[in-house]
Amino acid sequence: MRPVLDIRNVKKIYGQGETEVQALRGVSLTVERGDYVAIMGSSGSGKSTLMNILGCLDIPTSGRYLLDGVDVSRLNDRRLALVRNRRIGFVFQAFNLIARTSALANVELPLAYAGVRSAERRRRANLALSMVGLAERAGHEPNQLSGGQQQRVAVARALVTAPALVLADEPTGNLDTQSTDDVLAVFDRLNRSGRTIVLITHEPDVAAHAKRLIRLVDGRIVQDERLK
Ligand code: ADP
Ligand code: MG
Repeated sequence: MRPVLDIRNVKKIYGQGETEVQALRGVSLTVERGDYVAIMGSSGSGKSTLMNILGCLDIPTSGRYLLDGVDVSRLNDRRLALVRNRRIGFVFQAFNLIARTSALANVELPLAYAGVRSAERRRRANLALSMVGLAERAGHEPNQLSGGQQQRVAVARALVTAPALVLADEPTGNLDTQSTDDVLAVFDRLNRSGRTIVLITHEPDVAAHAKRLIRLVDGRIVQDERLK
């Protein structure tokens, strides 16, 4: 089967001349369907740059990126946005939920953008909420939910389009220990049910949940280790 992610010799250079920064210096990486990958590295090592490229928020200066078999390295902004909406579910450190709007409506949003009709949206959003253990909270608004519950709503929103890849950038960075455990338990369960997850984190305890650990130093992969 083709890998979900296949990047080959990806380089990213910011700026020119004196201000040039080589943020990625030739990164190659394939991720198979169903894998759970943690990416670690100190500040400035290129994690966000890599995440932006993997998430189709930016394109590489050179190298190739196949996402779910589609070459996205040279798409224009509009095509890139389409791929992003259809194939990737994002979870960020800040939950980015819409205030004064129910959990259900928040989760439905990506489906609304995709033009899915209302009854089908509701059905799929309810299913996604039950996958993160929040079926009972569908009518709650963000300020009526704990941080951990809000992040689980954000995970449901990331899942609802059935993306090829769930991409999480420091998803537990704003959470207390209990909520961190709850959110990681959701990721563990999603991965056991076959979801492909790439997670960026500073915390070794969080990375330990993944099946594979990748370490970036100065724009290069220096370690790629199978944990489970
Ligand atoms: P990390 O997320 O691991 O902290 P980044 O990917 O944000 O690392 O940054 C990698 C390198 O690229 C750093 O040296 C950073 O200063 C530089 N960099 C990141 N974004 C930009 C940008 N938009 N313009 C110029 N340099 C950047
Ligand atoms: Mg960063």
